[in-house]
Amino acid sequence: MSINFSEDAGESITTTVSLPEDAAEGSLRPRTLTEYIGQEKAKGNLEIFIDAAKLRREPLDHVLLHGPPGLGKTTLAAVIANEMGVNMRITSGPAIEKPGDLVAMLTNLNEGDILFVDEIHRLNRAYEEILYPAMEDFAIDIILGKGPSANSIHLDLPRFTLIGATTRSGQLTAPLRDRFGVALRLELYTPEELQRIVQRSSGILNVAIEPEGAYEIASRSRGTPRIANRLLRRVRDFAQVKGDGIITKEIADRALSRLEVDKLGLDALDRRMLRSIIDYYNGGPVGLDTLAATINEEAVTLEDMYEPYLLQQGFLTRTPRGRCVTRRAYEHLGIAQLGQQQLEI
Ligand code: ADP
Repeated sequence: MSINFSEDAGESITTTVSLPEDAAEGSLRPRTLTEYIGQEKAKGNLEIFIDAAKLRREPLDHVLLHGPPGLGKTTLAAVIANEMGVNMRITSGPAIEKPGDLVAMLTNLNEGDILFVDEIHRLNRAYEEILYPAMEDFAIDIILGKGPSANSIHLDLPRFTLIGATTRSGQLTAPLRDRFGVALRLELYTPEELQRIVQRSSGILNVAIEPEGAYEIASRSRGTPRIANRLLRRVRDFAQVKGDGIITKEIADRALSRLEVDKLGLDALDRRMLRSIIDYYNGGPVGLDTLAATINEEAVTLEDMYEPYLLQQGFLTRTPRGRCVTRRAYEHLGIAQLGQQQLEI
């Protein structure tokens, strides 16, 4: 059996993007609001909206979910569908290549159904206009033909709920954003919440794990359930090959250190990013694009996937003039801070 414990296999182990090895995620998805761990604020609000909609026997208002990748937006949409007792159709902004794709999705919905549009900020702006009357009046107008002979057909749609998910709500146009009655922001999870997620997943995967082992994985998962579940699977392999199959704190620590995931969940790219700001820009400020070019990464990758955790952990601050590292980053990397640098703001 060959298991890859090193990081040189392309994508970083701590990426928030879904990897092929995450295909088994489906079985780990919670199905009800009670099973859905954390996000208490969003869940509390949703519970009320769901109960009210059910009482009125109406579909739920359109919902916009925003937050970094891997925090459970798709999962929450499926939970909502389950709690409402309706079907959910799934598509994504980039998958809608022509207006007909969107019209087909909308006209195939049944009364009360949920249409989930992932990465809705990447939906072609020109097609967005189809969504406005669909969301507001449950109807669409289709123009057939061109020029003076063009005809418009008015089609009524079943009353449905649109759930949009986005990592960048700022990129949504105002008219689209305004048509969502409910907007919920998902936050990074605390280590305690992630520990519960790891323990729940271990139960489903039939993995023996000690609470301290689960906490070790949780505290190194960048606040993200997708990463926690991925690290759990890697640590399980390690425990089976190098230990007696039980995930203890020590086994988790050894496995994660080998994967170059440090005590706080920072990986090689995080450290490279912080180090570059220190080495080349004296700790900052440096603009995101300049920084991205320096470390040969895309600015959106840094902004969507790396920054949220670094900001939350207080390693990085965003200022109008660019990104700055904090004293905590110097300390974590073991680098002495130069006298004139007092970068916390
Ligand atoms: P997103 O759509 O935000 O990228 P997903 O909904 O695909 O994230 O979630 C990634 C994985 O993390 C899911 O397969 C699920 O197993 C797990 N997960 C997400 N949120 C939770 C949660 N609140 N409780 C338990 N597991 C979760």
